Amino acid sequence: MSDIIRKRVEETVTKPMDQIAWQEIEPGGSIVEPGNASSYHTGTWRSQRPICDTEKCIRCWRCFIMCPDAAISPDYQENIFIWNYNYCKGCGICANECPVTAITLVEEGN
Ligand code: SF4
Ligand code: SF4
Repeated sequence: MSDIIRKRVEETVTKPMDQIAWQEIEPGGSIVEPGNASSYHTGTWRSQRPICDTEKCIRCWRCFIMCPDAAISPDYQENIFIWNYNYCKGCGICANECPVTAITLVEEGN
């Protein structure tokens, strides 16, 4: 990533959405440099937060497979799944896919 693009990404896409002015967005919302997905903290979009009940979880891996943002990852030492809320945008797919309803969505901020 070039220095100019890196600076632009750091100044723009890592800011919360409500702090980005329209003038800072590329025309058409274009992605101007490949490989910058990790710079987009889609967690700032979230209005609901998935919470996992590890007692109910049967470690089927469905949430891990189905999350479109790769926001869920296994913690092998603790034998649990952990959520990266920088990237979880609260779409609820993981909760819908969980076969034992171990994941519930709660209002963000509660
Ligand atoms: S709510 Fe959506 S983005 Fe967040 S962990 Fe679940 S599937 Fe991924
Ligand atoms: S889908 Fe539900 S049961 Fe399966 S690993 Fe995720 S939280 Fe656990």
